[in-house]
Amino acid sequence: MKKGSIAIVGTGPAALMAGTLLVENGFDVKFFDHKKAPARKFLVAGHGGFNLTNAEELVSFCDKYDRELVKNAVRFFTPQNFIDFLAKIGIETYVGSSGKIFPKKGIKPIEVLNAWLNYLTANGASFHYEHKLNQVELSSLVFETKQGQLTIDADAKIFALGGGSWQQTGSLGDWFDIFSKKNIKCVPFEASNSGLVLDSKLLDEDLEGGHIKNCRLISVEYSKLGDVVLTRYGLEGAPAYAMNRDFRNGHKIVIDFKPSLDESDIVNRMQKAKNVTEGLKNLKLSKIAIQWIKDSVSKEDYLNTEKLANLIKLFELPVVGLRPIDEVISTVGGIDLTEIDENFQLKKLPNYFCVGEMLDWDAPTGGYLIQGAVSTGAKAAHSIILNLGRFEGD
Ligand SMILES: Cc1cc2nc3c(=O)[nH]c(=O)nc-3n(C[C@H](O)[C@H](O)[C@H](O)COP(=O)(O)OP(=O)(O)OC[C@H]3O[C@@H](n4cnc5c(N)ncnc54)[C@H](O)[C@@H]3O)c2cc1C
Repeated sequence: MKKGSIAIVGTGPAALMAGTLLVENGFDVKFFDHKKAPARKFLVAGHGGFNLTNAEELVSFCDKYDRELVKNAVRFFTPQNFIDFLAKIGIETYVGSSGKIFPKKGIKPIEVLNAWLNYLTANGASFHYEHKLNQVELSSLVFETKQGQLTIDADAKIFALGGGSWQQTGSLGDWFDIFSKKNIKCVPFEASNSGLVLDSKLLDEDLEGGHIKNCRLISVEYSKLGDVVLTRYGLEGAPAYAMNRDFRNGHKIVIDFKPSLDESDIVNRMQKAKNVTEGLKNLKLSKIAIQWIKDSVSKEDYLNTEKLANLIKLFELPVVGLRPIDEVISTVGGIDLTEIDENFQLKKLPNYFCVGEMLDWDAPTGGYLIQGAVSTGAKAAHSIILNLGRFEGD
């Protein structure tokens, strides 16, 4: 006999991991999703390299999350637990550059998803597509389906409805009303892991598509080394994404075009050159850096090596915004974390849980987003296993 019935709304990684622990522990799990097929955003994440998690040491891994609740979930269900699970379903992984973990070469994202779905169905889970959650009652969920309204009851319900970006994947973020009606506070979505939109004075068609390699973007809380690319609107790339939180908090962002040298080294090297142009060339600065620096100083200052060295190390980026939510990798905002307990259970609705990106937390790219989703799903499932499992007294 099954230990209890669980309705999980959503089929992204947060939902699938919650369901995994529950079926493994003898629960009857039903997944519901309004799309025709599961985990569309999970598959989109696989387009440019399926970065599932990261091999970084756990303490610094957890530091990547802005909320203690999510850090705790990652400590509970670690990247290694996720890698072990993937291996169990036949998905071998490898560690790529900067510790990013990917499925072994040749394994397509759809194969990862199918292996996971097969494992769940083999363990008794069922999937119900084209079921759109549109109401939450005290003991049931109401879905809109092709056949009309359907009311589902279950011993516990898990919501894993995702954030607000890439709406074509089904993560519409249009569920705020459902929760607001239950007096559950939702924080408006904002872009995260977005490119930085720059003031048009730095944008130049001739520079578009150019890279600034091995630079460091720096703000108050974060700094990140790496490569950025100049697009028609601004900067894209991991260092730019890492600055989002500081930008949202109103902090200035500067770029260090030459992190490997300190200011005095730069001055020395420049002074050894025949002229400024040769000096800048010897430093192997990108075309973009040279242009931006040239455009930002007077003719006299362009000949002042100290001033130039200072600009090379601390060039203030006139960031005017982030990209529209639909285009970005993730969002912050969603269910306010004060609404849930340490097991991701809604304080106002016992036995209803919220997990994954629909909660208001933030993390950078690099595998931390999917890991945050699966860890929060696992933590909620574990609490259900302890409480409902015990209640059923097997
Ligand atoms: C372009 C791109 C690249 C990315 N690359 C990476 C990466 O390499 N590594 C990484 O860690 N992360 C990456 N991410 C982020 C990662 O994909 C997400 O953080 C993750 O999918 C969130 O998981 P989730 O389960 O919380 O929600 P989602 O995966 O968004 O799933 C939410 C589910 O809920 C369903 N749903 C929503 N509303 C309803 C409703 N009312 N009724 C029924 N069902 C509903 C949706 O259809 C969807 O299936 C990327 C994202 C994007 C957009």
